Amino acid sequence: MDTAFFLRWIAAVTERVRADRDHLTDLDRAIGDADHGANLDRGFTAVEEALAAKPPETPSAVLTTTGTTLIRKVGGASGPLYGTLFRTLGRAVGEVPEVSQEALAEAFAQALAAVMKLGSAQEGDKTMIDALAPAVPELRTSFDAAARAALDGARATTPMRARKGRASYLGDRSIGHQDPGATSTALVIDALRAA
Ligand code: ADP
Ligand code: MG
Ligand code: MG
Repeated sequence: MDTAFFLRWIAAVTERVRADRDHLTDLDRAIGDADHGANLDRGFTAVEEALAAKPPETPSAVLTTTGTTLIRKVGGASGPLYGTLFRTLGRAVGEVPEVSQEALAEAFAQALAAVMKLGSAQEGDKTMIDALAPAVPELRTSFDAAARAALDGARATTPMRARKGRASYLGDRSIGHQDPGATSTALVIDALRAA
């Protein structure tokens, strides 16, 4: 996978975030502060501008610019968390012109660990980790399987009680709603297929 692949991936994420903006915000209205779709749309619109202004020459540069821009532009929990995800991917793939599927899967494993550490979240806490963690091992063999695992993981957050982030303030009232961050993570992984 070359630089053009990673640019297509980020463009697909940007497009999906824009299309699903209101849905993501509605999910966050139920158990948060109704801004998740708006946060990500603002962030990825800035990413689109940053990538267009200074076209990156390596996969690593695409990923690092994406992460850095998200940290700068997205207030709220998801900015630093997604920013760390993409920046860790950028560092982990290294300065190479093409990334193998195996190397991307390994980079995702490192990114998952970094996001879990930053948010001190585990699987089952009803966060984006519940979509990301089951997808990561599948990335070694198939983007289709990874996308399915992420979507199943996001759906599985509905009966969970939130233990991290704003939704945790609701206690038992967080039960019965799908987590917005897990939902957007499923979209990010699904966009790999489009790329
Ligand atoms: P905020 O909650 O600050 O308004 P967003 O609405 O953009 O930020 O993002 C909320 C999402 O962030 C949640 O649905 C959850 O998936 C994710 N999240 C929140 N806290 C954590 C955490 N500590 N670890 C992992 N993910 C988290
Ligand atoms: Mg929010
Ligand atoms: Mg907020």
